[in-house]
Parts: sequence; structure tokens; C-alpha cells
Amino acid sequence: NDQLTLEFNIMSYGAEQYLLIVRDITQLKQLEQIRKDFVANVSHELRTPLTVLQGYLEVMDDEHLPDKAMWKKAHNVMLDQTKRMDSLVQQLLTLSRIEASARVQFEPIVDVPVMLHQLEQEAQTLNREKQHSIRFDIDDSLKVTGVTEELRSAFSNLVTNAIKYTPAGGEISVSWQRQHLKAVFAVNDNGEGIAAHHVKRLTERFYRVDQARARNTGGTGLGLAIVKHVLSRHNSRLMIFSEPGKGSSFSFSIPAELVLGQKTKNRGEKP
Ligand code: ADP
Repeated sequence: NDQLTLEFNIMSYGAEQYLLIVRDITQLKQLEQIRKDFVANVSHELRTPLTVLQGYLEVMDDEHLPDKAMWKKAHNVMLDQTKRMDSLVQQLLTLSRIEASARVQFEPIVDVPVMLHQLEQEAQTLNREKQHSIRFDIDDSLKVTGVTEELRSAFSNLVTNAIKYTPAGGEISVSWQRQHLKAVFAVNDNGEGIAAHHVKRLTERFYRVDQARARNTGGTGLGLAIVKHVLSRHNSRLMIFSEPGKGSSFSFSIPAELVLGQKTKNRGEKP
């Protein structure tokens, strides 16, 4: 990965005079590779559900129409696959929207506590199958400046992942608390955990620890890439601590200057 790519150009000036131009194009090559991988990944992710849909549609065209139970199964599978394509396209749009607008319009008040209480309800609905114990610990006075929809998507991705990647009956805790002058959001689970060499790459687009299994959970592999982008716009970074077999902790802090209701250097009231 640390290889250098150089481009050489030799120009001749009349007899026996040459100019050698050496250009370091390492970064250019890397960007080109990232773009190629991205296109290949998107194509693959969209083709997989399309292949399944096509398969079922072909069966339906058969003269010997399958019985009602088969129809029901086909219907469910096709619905699942269409939903999967829809969420992939939605997440791609979210990602490109975040990347496209270099300067963001921060909203003066983002009511994070209200947002997290809503998320708590949604999490409980999503949790019906797995029956985890999910505990939310929210400081109701803690609001920030930022982009509401982006923050909502960061909170939601982390909570949804904890539910998805923790075996049934697990324990999940979500907290939004003041720590010194910062606001800290944390999701802890006692799920499957992640090995260190995977942790480093989790926020890459389409990176998944177990491709097949993650896909079965309805994942697109874009969730944490979105979280990373959202956080970098809010001057923050995703912290991941995880131990295979024990569980994971995903957290981030919103810096003091974006936290409301306190005097900080940057808001600068003069003495
Ligand atoms: P996906 O849509 O596949 O969930 P994400 O970008 O949200 O994509 O997550 C990337 C990968 O990180 C997941 O496929 C999963 O392997 C791993 N992962 C994320 N959250 C957790 C967690 N709480 N516990 C274990 N693994 C996780």
C-alpha cells in the first residue's frame, strides 16, 4: 500500500539536451482505484437483488403456475430485494449529498434529546424479533448546533447496527451525556465484537466483516461511511472499541463550541 507511483517524461531539446520530468502520481492513482472499486461495488450490490428478482419473475412466467404458498414466498422475497435496493440507493444519495455540499448550513438548535426519544421508539420496534434489553440514558437538556438530518442518520446507524449485530437477547445501552464541556453519544453492546484488523476498515464504503451475513441482515455496507462523513462535518470522529466475543462500543463527542447552553472560549463573551 505504501508503493510510490511515478510518471516519467523525457523531452529532448536539440542535440544531446534532455529534460526529465518526474511526477509523483501516487495519490492520483489511489483516487482512481477508489473510484473504480466504488463503481464495481455499487454495480455488484445492485445486481445481486436484480438477479434474484429476475429468477422469480422467470418462474412466474412458467405455464405450470406455482401454488399459492410458492406465490407468497416469491412475493416476500421480491419485496425484500426491492427494499434492499431502495435502501442502497437512499444511502448512496445521502452519502453523495453529504460529500457534494462542501459548506453546510448548521442549524442553531438541534434538539437531540427529542430525536433520541423518537429513535428509542423505533429501536424498540426493530427489536421485536431479537428481544434485546435496550436502555437509553439521555440528558434532556443537552442540545447542539449542527445538521439535524445528518446527526439523526449517525445516531440511527449506530443503534441499528448494535441491534443487528448482537445475537438475540443481548444488552444494549445508548447514552447522550455531558462530559466536561462536550456532548458524548455512545452505544455499547455485548454482541459478536469485531477483530482489530477489521475495526480499522469499518468506515470504508461497503466494508463488511462478513459480507454474506451482513447482507442477510439487510445491511448496505454504507452506514458507517455515512457516520464518518457526518461526524467530520461536526468536527468529530467515530471511536470504536471492540473485543471479539464480548461486544463493541461506538461513540463520538460533539465539541464544546457546538454544544448549547454553556460558555466556551469560541463563543467568546468578553470578561
Ligand atoms: P452494514 O450496512 O453492513 O451494517 P455498516 O457500514 O453500518 O454496514 O457496518 C459495517 C460493518 O461493521 C457491518 O457489516 C458489520 O460487520 C460491522 N459492525 C457494525 N456495527 C457492529 C456492531 N455493533 N457489532 C459488530 N459488528 C458491527
